[in-house]
Amino acid sequence: MPTQTETPDVVLIGAGIMSATLGTVLKELEPGLSIAMFETLKDCGQESSQAWNNAGTGHAANCELNYTPQRPDGSVDISKALVVNTEFDVSRQLWTYLTGTGAIPDPRAFIHPCPHMSFVWGPENIAFLRARYREMSAHHCYHGMEYSEDRAKIAEWAPLIIEGREEGQPVAATRIVSGSDVDYGALTHLLVAGLIRQPGFEVHYNSKVVALDRDSGGRWKVTVEDTYSRARETVSARFVFIGAGGASLELLQASGIPEGRGYGGFPVSGIWLRCDDDAVTRRHHAKVYGKAATGSPPMSVPHLDTRIIGGKTSLLFGPYAGFSSKFLKHGSLTDLFRSITHDNIIPLLDVARDNVALTEYLIGQVLQSASHQFAVLQDFFPKANRNEWKEAVAGQRVQIIKPDRERGGLLEFGTEVVPAADKSIVALLGASPGASTAAFIATEVLKVCFADRLTESGWLPKLRKLFPTWGIDLTRHAEACRKTRAETARALKLEYV
Ligand SMILES: Cc1cc2nc3c(=O)[nH]c(=O)nc-3n(C[C@H](O)[C@H](O)[C@H](O)COP(=O)(O)OP(=O)(O)OC[C@H]3O[C@@H](n4cnc5c(N)ncnc54)[C@H](O)[C@@H]3O)c2cc1C
Repeated sequence: MPTQTETPDVVLIGAGIMSATLGTVLKELEPGLSIAMFETLKDCGQESSQAWNNAGTGHAANCELNYTPQRPDGSVDISKALVVNTEFDVSRQLWTYLTGTGAIPDPRAFIHPCPHMSFVWGPENIAFLRARYREMSAHHCYHGMEYSEDRAKIAEWAPLIIEGREEGQPVAATRIVSGSDVDYGALTHLLVAGLIRQPGFEVHYNSKVVALDRDSGGRWKVTVEDTYSRARETVSARFVFIGAGGASLELLQASGIPEGRGYGGFPVSGIWLRCDDDAVTRRHHAKVYGKAATGSPPMSVPHLDTRIIGGKTSLLFGPYAGFSSKFLKHGSLTDLFRSITHDNIIPLLDVARDNVALTEYLIGQVLQSASHQFAVLQDFFPKANRNEWKEAVAGQRVQIIKPDRERGGLLEFGTEVVPAADKSIVALLGASPGASTAAFIATEVLKVCFADRLTESGWLPKLRKLFPTWGIDLTRHAEACRKTRAETARALKLEYV
């Protein structure tokens, strides 16, 4: 593991999509920065960012129904969806910039056009989808959204979800053809490869960060252990990004910063069903989202997805949520228990008390038999053949438990950037929306930790090249939204409507 420099400007912990994206942005803004990236595993993009560990949604909050709750009066609140929708534009802009510089030679190496759909059955769900469509299609961000209750039309869009369905069952669907499928593992590899080509960047695999201590000068002593020899080395960094996925909580605690006190984590594991049979996969080209079961965490909305990974098309269904006390797929069963401290025990207990429905849901999922799991797939794809599907284990998602004055503890399903008061270290907690908003998260880190550089004589001119709509709220500016989508669709070879 010997490092070329013992005093890098920046240490990135973890080689997933988040560190790779932040490293890429920082190097674009200030090529002279020295950056060291440390990763426990033998390669980058092997945990949640690995293609089969996530769903690869170009999470544009197009058709995922969990982002659009129904109000008591029956109307639908699309405000959260709009935020996530336009955060994905930030990622598209960065990827477009990188295709322009040649850092990403061909976008088809990681992103493919793939229509996104919502699909429901039953009068109540149809009324919800109709109200949702009314609200969304009136907004410029959802220009081009289609709606149908006609089985023949829906079968044109996605035949497998209609064939064999009970006659007379009312159904409805919406579709956005400008959606995408993203291989975040491939993208992580492209970004890290781009970083390695630049002077002043080093990546160290099989190198686990085991301690974080502040020195008297305000720098961070980052102690790294070689996972084979157990030899330890310490580097001193001006700025540390804890992008360790599920393990970020543990490292935040290890840093000892007061801002991290009280945070806890709740891991949710997942199982997919996967089909690689070409005769089936060539008949489905969409990501089709249904309605989540009562009590389920929002990211457990079942979906039947086209995945394009390494040039091969497969189908993926799920996730079936489950429980494992690991914080990473390659983690330890003791992760959850080691994360419990006297600072977060009260928030953890409060969350357990307030989330009985979630606990019941997870227990139900864990106890679900394989045949019951398959029956859930058949609700979507009635003619699915058991022999053509196999189980695949998804990545771990560690949901944030944060201290709350009134309720003691809150369970959050988003992501959160937790910086030290002096902005010298920042941890990224949470998992959803995730990889698809990595570029937006990188800009949040810039705003929080590098605010002094965001000036006309500093990074702003370059930032506008990376993110042409920097400072513009795309949910309000229809023309800017249309323009960036047309440009990024062209560069990334996506559909534009
Ligand atoms: C089932 C599932 C479905 C999902 N679906 C989607 C989706 O459709 N769209 C979407 O946008 N997002 C999705 N996500 C979320 C997305 O996968 C994550 O938000 C994203 O991959 C997180 O990236 P990361 O870089 O923070 O973490 P990771 O990819 O987990 O990388 C963290 C890295 O840190 C390393 N590490 C940990 N501890 C240390 C240490 N002490 N020292 C050194 N290295 C360390 C790990 O080995 C790992 O490589 C999904 C996640 C799951 C689990």
